[in-house]
Amino acid sequence: ILRKEHLYKVLVIGDLGVGKTSIIRRYVHQTYSTNYRATIGVDFALKVLNWDSATVRLQLWDIAGQERFGNMTRVYYREAMGAFIVFDVTRSTSFEAVIKWKEDLDSKLMLTNGQSIATVLLANKCDQGRELTNNGIKMDQFCKDHGFIGWFETSAKVRPVAKVFFFANNSLYNKSN
Ligand code: GDP
Ligand code: MG
Repeated sequence: ILRKEHLYKVLVIGDLGVGKTSIIRRYVHQTYSTNYRATIGVDFALKVLNWDSATVRLQLWDIAGQERFGNMTRVYYREAMGAFIVFDVTRSTSFEAVIKWKEDLDSKLMLTNGQSIATVLLANKCDQGRELTNNGIKMDQFCKDHGFIGWFETSAKVRPVAKVFFFANNSLYNKSN
């Protein structure tokens, strides 16, 4: 039997220091460390999932260095089919920046049907406190208002990423890993 193969480019964006690289490493390599080299340029990690009768290769694109400019080039966003925008729950400026990242993404990348790509908001470092996100209704409303398909609390430090997310047809599916 031939297995179906899918390759999906998924962006991980957000301000410097919010934990993008940590989340990717936790998800792909099951590791966590407090001192990564600050990656320079663009890096990507591959997560392979067996999804029913299909093999899904998630190519997780990490940015490094360019976060400080708060935007990326069209070339970087090109052909992505989903995105995670990450903020740090201990740093409200990183949450405010989320809107800017979403606008940058939507202004530079669109699906062929004219819709924006499926984007999920990640509230990272939830091991450090929940002041920003403990009002779930507010977060749900924020997602509606700004075109996120959902949000999740994450901690690259203490939690294995227990769920698997992937995007298809502009929808989010998740499944226990
Ligand atoms: P990036 O610049 O967005 O790629 O952020 P990094 O992944 O380099 O993380 C920045 C710092 O935050 C590092 O010192 C990480 O160890 C730390 N960090 C990342 N994720 C978490 C988390 O979930 N909880 C805590 N407490 N620290 C984290
Ligand atoms: Mg990084």
